Amino acid sequence: MTIEPRTDARAEAGPAIPICAKCLGEVLPWMDFCMRCRSPLTAFANTGPMESAFSEGWGIGEAIVTKRPSLVSVIGLWFLLVPTMLGFGVSFAFSLRESRTWLGAVGRLVAAGVIACLAWALFHATRNYVRARRRRSEPEVG
Ligand SMILES: [Zn+2]
Repeated sequence: MTIEPRTDARAEAGPAIPICAKCLGEVLPWMDFCMRCRSPLTAFANTGPMESAFSEGWGIGEAIVTKRPSLVSVIGLWFLLVPTMLGFGVSFAFSLRESRTWLGAVGRLVAAGVIACLAWALFHATRNYVRARRRRSEPEVG
């Protein structure tokens, strides 16, 4: 009986190359965000003052454009965007009182634009979630 010498596979593979958990692209050790998909990579990306804002924006964008959003991200989006839309709705209502000034017209335009954008985002995220759920529940054909 011969005993093969044990080899350390990790030592033979060379140094580990850090990769992005989202897109599996290669990243450099000093990067806080992936250069390919912009996802946050480090704890600093979620705690730094500007970095956390970028991370939140990235998270909201992912919840809106991803084809299979999770229920948690869709609910989070509703909790985040509906109060914001209500706030801009109040702003719109107040701008009606200033109906004869250019400032009132600008206020109505901005409020209506923001409400339309947020409603579009909510619609897309919710529609993608419902479609992904329907696809999962349909029986496989063929
Ligand atoms: Zn990436």
